Amino acid sequence: MSLPTVDTTVTYPAGAVAGTGTVLYTQTLPDGRPAVLTDSTPVHPVDAGWPDQGADRATLTTADGTEVPVEDCVVGATDGSSLFLGRDIPVRKGTEGWVFTVVHVLPAGTVPAEGSEVRFQVDNGYRAALSAGHTACHLASLALNKALAEAWKKDVQADAAGNPNFDALAIETSTISEFGSRDLYRLGKSLRRKGFLPDALLASPEVVEEAVNRTLAGWVASGAAVRIERDSELLTGMRRWVCDLPDGTVSIPCGGTHSDSLARFSGIQVRLSLKTADGAAEMVMETSGAPAG
Ligand SMILES: [Zn+2]
Repeated sequence: MSLPTVDTTVTYPAGAVAGTGTVLYTQTLPDGRPAVLTDSTPVHPVDAGWPDQGADRATLTTADGTEVPVEDCVVGATDGSSLFLGRDIPVRKGTEGWVFTVVHVLPAGTVPAEGSEVRFQVDNGYRAALSAGHTACHLASLALNKALAEAWKKDVQADAAGNPNFDALAIETSTISEFGSRDLYRLGKSLRRKGFLPDALLASPEVVEEAVNRTLAGWVASGAAVRIERDSELLTGMRRWVCDLPDGTVSIPCGGTHSDSLARFSGIQVRLSLKTADGAAEMVMETSGAPAG
């Protein structure tokens, strides 16, 4: 069989944790493990370009009833002749002539037949915890932007709530974990050139932290609904995280999974810490959500 000619249909944005797929293509990776591509999957892969939310934990059951763990799940891309995985993908999503696909990596020795149907089961609890972590991460970044809104002396791009987008302009890495996230921001020269005045933040990060946590407490108390809007069910289809916050609906492009409501949390809090790296100040924002009881 040949490499797929359309993107994988993904059902995780709609909240699916189980589903079937037809095996379109398999290939043995250099480490001996098979890569399995199906027409459809509920398994969230780690994204190549912005790997903030890791892969789901899941199992794959073959047509003959053999159940194996999906050891890794990554985004792949093909031009019809070769398959590239993760960081090896040489083009951006949406590039003409390229198909993006979810790649399930199985233990060596298990190769489901091409054309056969396989069943996926995602670890529901782990997914829910990562979804909560991702939702908390978006909220914390919006609350941080709001708390730092007065620290800008120039007009810069605004975030989904209309505040200067410190998060987008300063972020280095973002890592989603179970019920939380860790965001690393660089407060260097280029951010100053864009008009950011870091002195108040550097002098008293606890004041900013308090403001962020006050905002988050209000948002969690509202129990606002969260949904993922999508143009299509294809892997590269445009998807947006939308949350009906008390001060207005916010919408952020996002390919991850999310809690369906802020009522899933009893609280969300951040901790800000400053450090110096390569002569520039860096700030870590650790966000933790507590599940509603
Ligand atoms: Zn996101």
